[in-house]
Amino acid sequence: MTVTFGVLLFLNIYCSQTSQQIFYQSKEASMIEKCQLAASELSSLEVINRENVSETISGMESLRVTRLIVTDQAGQAIYDSWAPNTAGKYVLFPEVVEALGCNDVFTWRYHDGVMHSQAAVPMMYYGTLTGCVYMMEYDAQQGSLIRSLQANILTITVVLELVVILFSLFFARAFSTRMRRIMASMRIIQEGDYTHKVNLGGHDELSILGSEINDLTDRLQTSEAKRRQFVSDASHELKTPLASIKLLTDSILQNEMDQPTVMEFVEDIGKEADRLNRMSQKLLSLSKAESQEENESEIIRMAPTAERVVRMLTGIAEKSQIRIETDLSGDCPVLIQEDDLYQIIFNLVENGIKYNTPGGTLTLTLQRDEDNAMLKVTDTGVGIPTESIGHIFERFYRVDKARSRKSGGSGLGLSIVRGIVERNNGTILVESALGQGTTFTVYFPAFDTEETEESAT
Ligand code: ADP
Repeated sequence: MTVTFGVLLFLNIYCSQTSQQIFYQSKEASMIEKCQLAASELSSLEVINRENVSETISGMESLRVTRLIVTDQAGQAIYDSWAPNTAGKYVLFPEVVEALGCNDVFTWRYHDGVMHSQAAVPMMYYGTLTGCVYMMEYDAQQGSLIRSLQANILTITVVLELVVILFSLFFARAFSTRMRRIMASMRIIQEGDYTHKVNLGGHDELSILGSEINDLTDRLQTSEAKRRQFVSDASHELKTPLASIKLLTDSILQNEMDQPTVMEFVEDIGKEADRLNRMSQKLLSLSKAESQEENESEIIRMAPTAERVVRMLTGIAEKSQIRIETDLSGDCPVLIQEDDLYQIIFNLVENGIKYNTPGGTLTLTLQRDEDNAMLKVTDTGVGIPTESIGHIFERFYRVDKARSRKSGGSGLGLSIVRGIVERNNGTILVESALGQGTTFTVYFPAFDTEETEESAT
């Protein structure tokens, strides 16, 4: 608002100066012209004296001014229309002095509604200075014109300033009301009500801020719902083995059992404890996989990690009569943390064994597909029903709960895999046919550098 006032004040001053300037220019031209006319008429006189000058001037209608003085080259008055007796006296007006220096002069002053203008020009006779003509004029009419113009400009400025004040007050009020509404909404959201919406309407920056807050609360609401779901699923999953342990210990304590049965029960307790252990480890991996923390990725080839996983799981595969085949010839470098890559391959190969059928095969292939490095895990197992395919990456989802539990599954493996793959800019796809087998394919951007090319050769 202060800036607007400043601008209006500046405009006011500028307009009144400009109006005076316009009058100044027109006045200067006319006064100099009059002086030059008189000077040229007087230059043609044989003798320049008071009578001759008076006669010449009175014969020229256009030379009617408030005061007219004619001096000789020394500045002594020859004729003064105001004071007939000043002949012979020196006229020391600055304009006269300037004109006797052979310059045309015009000065101007606006005071008390009157325009006071003065002009003087040298009088020459065949290139020799013979004197000067000085004219002075009071112009009350032009003065009042300037005054009324300035009054108009002032009125316009005041009206504009009032309008600016009114608008500023209106907008400031509207702004603070809307701002207060946003702050009230923020307080409600802060207290945990993520269903609250900021309703402002309009299309200004505050409405945009309001809709950004609404988007944020939507996201908070979703993540809060996911968090609740996760906590309830996790407690449910942890509750089952804990309940089994409690049941088994109660049975041992309450019933008189023979030694072999007690041993069997204790073995079962151990298995449940193992399950709890695996579950808590998977939960830790899951939170690591989903955290946005920057990991220190490196450019590595996938084959060594794949071989490590295969070595690790061969024993289990053999126990389940599953043959593991590998084709790692299409290996290429990718940007990833080795631990992450291990987790992905381990979980997929472990599932391929777990959900396979005795005598089945698991094939692990590494391929290069244009700009992508491709990791493929194919099994000849039970397959996944079409309606379940969309859910297998969800936490705690299991197609066949009994089978998964029996094989030590937690329903977390694939959600961990997907979390890690996405964090490393990859994608994971699944194809499956019930009773025939399943293929998981993971794509990562291939990361060829000169260094890795050289080490490959
Ligand atoms: P789990 O620990 O139960 O194996 P996952 O998240 O690894 O959990 O897998 C989720 C579900 O997807 C499994 O319970 C299983 O039903 C199904 N699944 C995963 N991999 C395979 C596969 N290779 N063949 C058939 N079903 C699979």
